[in-house]
Amino acid sequence: MRNPRYVIIGAGPAGLGAAWRLTELGFRDFIVLEREAYVGGLAASFRDKAGFTWDIGGHVIHSHYPYFDSVFESVMQGEYFTHQRESWVQVGGSFVPFPFQNNIHRLPKPLMDACFHGLKEASRKKKKAPVNFSEWIVSTYGTGIAEHFMHPYNRKVWAYPLEKMSYQWVADRVAPVDIERVSENMRKKKDDVSWGPNAVFKYPKRGGTGDIWQRVASRFAKKIRCNSEVIAIDIKNRFVHLRDSGFIRYDGLFTTLPLDRLAQIVTGVAMPNRATDLVHSAVTVIGIGIRGATPAHLRTKCWIYFPDAAVPFFRATVLSNYSPHNAPPGMWSLMTEISSSTETPLPHGDIVEHVIRTALHIGLLPKDAVITDRFMMSSDYGYPTPTLGRDMVIDPLLAQLEEQGIYSRGRFGMWKYEMSNQDHTFMQGVEWVNKVVYGNQ
Ligand SMILES: Cc1cc2nc3c(=O)[nH]c(=O)nc-3n(C[C@H](O)[C@H](O)[C@H](O)COP(=O)(O)OP(=O)(O)OC[C@H]3O[C@@H](n4cnc5c(N)ncnc54)[C@H](O)[C@@H]3O)c2cc1C
Repeated sequence: MRNPRYVIIGAGPAGLGAAWRLTELGFRDFIVLEREAYVGGLAASFRDKAGFTWDIGGHVIHSHYPYFDSVFESVMQGEYFTHQRESWVQVGGSFVPFPFQNNIHRLPKPLMDACFHGLKEASRKKKKAPVNFSEWIVSTYGTGIAEHFMHPYNRKVWAYPLEKMSYQWVADRVAPVDIERVSENMRKKKDDVSWGPNAVFKYPKRGGTGDIWQRVASRFAKKIRCNSEVIAIDIKNRFVHLRDSGFIRYDGLFTTLPLDRLAQIVTGVAMPNRATDLVHSAVTVIGIGIRGATPAHLRTKCWIYFPDAAVPFFRATVLSNYSPHNAPPGMWSLMTEISSSTETPLPHGDIVEHVIRTALHIGLLPKDAVITDRFMMSSDYGYPTPTLGRDMVIDPLLAQLEEQGIYSRGRFGMWKYEMSNQDHTFMQGVEWVNKVVYGNQ
């Protein structure tokens, strides 16, 4: 196959990764079809009329791949900041640095004792293998941390019962427990914050996270067709049908459509219909722009987790701390995120006002805050939920699609949360090209 016609659906990081690699290898005969008027997908950013820049939820770059790093450096040309992560959890009126279990000395005494007791018990107990995420939390962190942080927080993020979720996806996303270290930190009242793959992260100077993807896309801008929604894929005859402009023939197809939607729009071959068993949550981002200087208690914080069920958002990010250009001069910005699903819908009423009222009530916003900007956007597909039995739906479906020459990848194309960050998804596009061009597995 020399210069076959490759069609890529979606100009998010995964689709752009595929297009980048094709361009790098000298292929010209490809096209990227994007439904929206902009590139970047869930990693896009928006500058609103008041001059604030917002991401679709807290996005930081912490890559696992040298190839991704070199692409990042090549497009960003030094136009980024490197930040030390400072993330916190608000529990019982206290701010506790992340990782939570290493810093429980910050909690009020009764909560600290409950958390430490649970940790000790969990580390002593002979372990029966947990059967779901809820049980895994208790067996790893004990009942105190489960009750005061991990259970309520994860219920908010996933908007789904933890008893119906697996835990095998956790890997490097959740800090392990070191009981000696915890008790030493308690004795010395020492903050211990350096854990994790994102302890240091990168962020563009201007234009938010989306700036990365605009710069990547600019390398092959003529190959991207925005406002082009794919509405059907005829597998037998190898055509994709577009909402407004006919159809395009392909030899190889790379798609980043949500897998459940993909299964609905392919024609010509019978697909297993279990894709409807896949579960996801939506994310709603509410941004608040405030006049004046960032208050002292937030000046160095990156983001804060909120397990309290009375607080509608699960996380708040001080986005103007990532880059001063995210807010106009003399202003600062706070971005909150709320998950929802068919099981846990968004709270009723004016959600923006609800968020502001709560932020004032819990002291996140100062009482005299002068709010100059309110931003809201929702994405129906926010988090691919790692449900029990997920892989038994996904793996046969992906295999069947591949037999038909269709590669479904990306955050919702693969539906594997543990491989759904920007670096993972970009590399899934690169790896697809390596596979079709060189036969790499
Ligand atoms: C709240 C939140 C926080 C996150 N935080 C981080 C983080 O800190 N660090 C990190 O690295 N990653 C983070 N991510 C993940 C990051 O956003 C994803 O890795 C990345 O956007 C996935 O890229 P993708 O190309 O797989 O999918 P998407 O970004 O979803 O792109 C898919 C594209 O396909 C298009 N499309 C859909 N349907 C059609 C159609 N029918 N026809 C044509 N085009 C279509 C969409 O418009 C979209 O542009 C976060 C995501 C969310 C939601």
